[in-house]
Amino acid sequence: MTLFLVLVVLLNTYYFSHDIYDLKDIFPELAPVTLLVITAFAVIKFLHIDSVTPRQSQLFLMLLILTWCYLLYGLIQLSSEPLPGIESLADILVMVFVFALFPNRKVMLLGILPFLLFSCFYRLYEYPESPVYPLTKFACVLAIIISGQKIISGWFIKAVIRDFEKQKLVKQFKRLALIDGLTNISNRRHFDEILSQEVRVAERNHHALSIILLDIDFFKRLNDTLGHQAGDAQLIKIAEIISSAVNRPRDLVARYGGEEFVIALPNTNLEGAIRVAEKVKSLLEEAQIVHPCSDVSAQVTLSQGIAQWEPGMSRDQLIKAADRMLYRAKSAGRDSYCFEGRSR
Ligand code: GH3
Ligand code: MG
Ligand code: MG
Repeated sequence: MTLFLVLVVLLNTYYFSHDIYDLKDIFPELAPVTLLVITAFAVIKFLHIDSVTPRQSQLFLMLLILTWCYLLYGLIQLSSEPLPGIESLADILVMVFVFALFPNRKVMLLGILPFLLFSCFYRLYEYPESPVYPLTKFACVLAIIISGQKIISGWFIKAVIRDFEKQKLVKQFKRLALIDGLTNISNRRHFDEILSQEVRVAERNHHALSIILLDIDFFKRLNDTLGHQAGDAQLIKIAEIISSAVNRPRDLVARYGGEEFVIALPNTNLEGAIRVAEKVKSLLEEAQIVHPCSDVSAQVTLSQGIAQWEPGMSRDQLIKAADRMLYRAKSAGRDSYCFEGRSR
């Protein structure tokens, strides 16, 4: 906007240069404001300064106001006649600063008062015989601007709050869509999405990828004996235990179904996955969660099916392979893990 105004001043000067002043005389007056704006634009655009601090923008604002005052003063100096255009220019600058700075009343007043006062005193100085008009104009314009600013900044603040709340809601919805409500770990939808990506990554980079499907043994009996709420509490505890068994950033633990969990282990071969399964088993043993009616132990145990991705395998084929191994672990007596047909 400043550059546009500078252009308008130049054009006006060009067309009226014969009567008032010469085009070459106006250049030194315009130079500071033009340079200031172009420099600020270049600094932000080409030096990639994305976030300008409030202090920097206040400093720039002060410099901009000072250089505009210098320009207006320079224009008066160039002419022996009173210049009606100068007052209009000051009024336009007031409007520009009002629009640009309306979110903050103090900063806005800081920006517009020099020009409002300039416009008022300039007219008082040039036409001392009619002092009422510039003074009432000053008072009315200031009152209109302040009340308008109140209304617009109220709308602005409401819009910002609404936008903020919308973003918060979108984040919450996204979270709800990907996180299991009971255990607070990823849900099946998120797991399927991530596993599809990991299969593509493994395919492209020839990396290893393994998954483990885990199912709590005799969980129905635990539920039937201790009640559903106690069952829920156990599910939360077991989800925590399984999560604590993995620590690489791309490892993903999810609740796959009722009392079934799944772990995706990118960049991990079968040996690595077996180590994770053993870690889950020993962490669960350490936790000593009592199971009142399991056939295999006095504590809660898990059966685990481990599958390693092979080139050409799809996501669903990988899950099916892990499910086959889980079934085998169940058939082999539970509280164990199976991989590629062998169980321990
Ligand atoms: P198995 O050793 O063969 O896995 O036996 P199981 O009893 O664990 O397996 P089954 O599939 O027969 O039963 C799973 C039970 O898990 C059924 C249901 O009572 C329980 N369950 C599933 N989802 C939830 C849940 O969100 N909360 C609770 N408390 N229990 C659940
Ligand atoms: Mg099950
Ligand atoms: Mg089960």
